[in-house]
Amino acid sequence: MVNSSVTLIEVSFQRGLHLPELDLWLDPWDGKPQAFVSHAHADHFARHESALCSEVTASLIHQRFRLAESRIEAVPFQVPIVRDGFRLKLLPAGHICGSAMLHVTRLKDNASLLYTGDFKTRRGRTAEPVNFLAADTLIMETTFGLPTFTFPNPLEVDAHILRFVHDAFADGETPVLVGYSLGKAQEALAFLTENNIPALLHPTVAAMTVACRGAGFEMLPEPVEFRGYAPAGHVVIVPPNAIRSKLMRGLKSKRTAMLTGWAQQPGSKYRYRVDEVIPLSDHADYPGLMECVTRVRPKKILTVHGFAREFAADLRTKGHNAWCAMGGDQLELSIAQIAQRIGSTTGPRLVRAICPLADFSDLCRLVGETNSRVAKTEFLASYLRGLEEDEDLQLAAVWLTGNALPRRAGQRAVAGALGAPDRGPAGGFVGAVKFALQGVQKRVQKRVHGKFRPS
Ligand SMILES: [Zn+2]
Repeated sequence: MVNSSVTLIEVSFQRGLHLPELDLWLDPWDGKPQAFVSHAHADHFARHESALCSEVTASLIHQRFRLAESRIEAVPFQVPIVRDGFRLKLLPAGHICGSAMLHVTRLKDNASLLYTGDFKTRRGRTAEPVNFLAADTLIMETTFGLPTFTFPNPLEVDAHILRFVHDAFADGETPVLVGYSLGKAQEALAFLTENNIPALLHPTVAAMTVACRGAGFEMLPEPVEFRGYAPAGHVVIVPPNAIRSKLMRGLKSKRTAMLTGWAQQPGSKYRYRVDEVIPLSDHADYPGLMECVTRVRPKKILTVHGFAREFAADLRTKGHNAWCAMGGDQLELSIAQIAQRIGSTTGPRLVRAICPLADFSDLCRLVGETNSRVAKTEFLASYLRGLEEDEDLQLAAVWLTGNALPRRAGQRAVAGALGAPDRGPAGGFVGAVKFALQGVQKRVQKRVHGKFRPS
């Protein structure tokens, strides 16, 4: 039950979310003494001294990242544990197998907090169904936090996959489904198995499938590894980074489909360079995010990942006390107004200095951690639109394109850090910066355009 007059549990943000009263970090990207690891995706894991997670995630991070068992504290779902005057409970998040949300209650006054980690409301085949619990503070992921991201009915998505597979078979081609090696790949495998369609798995997908089976997901079939040849009637499942690998190049007459929530963005199949995009996502869509807010009934909401600022702003127009956890809500509010709000009792209690460098490094991290060029562009566009001074925009452009560093090495380093290593020296990324700038006012675009032109 949400308490109406309670002092909210304190949350701070410094290269990750932190609960100072418990000294517990939530999915931080650097190793910490104590951290909650919501799931076994690489962008949510670091080598912590003590990692609190679900039993399945414990098994996956032990197998995937070789973290010693002595540093992992595995807690079953729904079983409360008490620590330093707080009750902690893990709830299924529905994102991938083992993914968990963390519910925290301060015992002295029942103040509560729910951290979702990555989650989805659609029921997956290989993830425990999501289970929300009411909380005073909600920290939620907002990858798809725009109303345009409303995914089709799951049955339509299933039909789309079957149509793609059978069309390829009919044309004598091998259908290749592209999805993350942990999560999406097993969803695809489970679906194909239900439909008696045999699948060959890229070695990294096979390894993750073995790990999921080892963690108790035995409904997944024994993986059969793809070795460069697929007999007729077989589907190949590969991760996005392997789609143009040497192993895949050996497969002639193939047809590729990317499984992603970004499928709904116009032109996404050209950006992913695949034949088709199918909107199968492991994240909540916009209605799913709203469902989370409705079910949790929070007094305060902090948003992380993706369209965090936009979703928080949207929630504020609906009367919620919602803020982007990384700050940067100055898209609408002046810095002075934010400072005033931080000091007031009605505004966000988030303890965070307003720091342009932190915003810039957060942007780089977000861009670097997604493989989606569409997502990279959206993050950039959102960031660049928020820069009010021409001077700031010029500075950002110079650093983002690597021009601030000695030419070649600098560009390569920036390209690598931002996840564009396969596109030549920052070429794809420079392109994305230019593309993002299309959303920026013409006046500014004109003045800084020269800075983006790769020579
Ligand atoms: Zn994830």
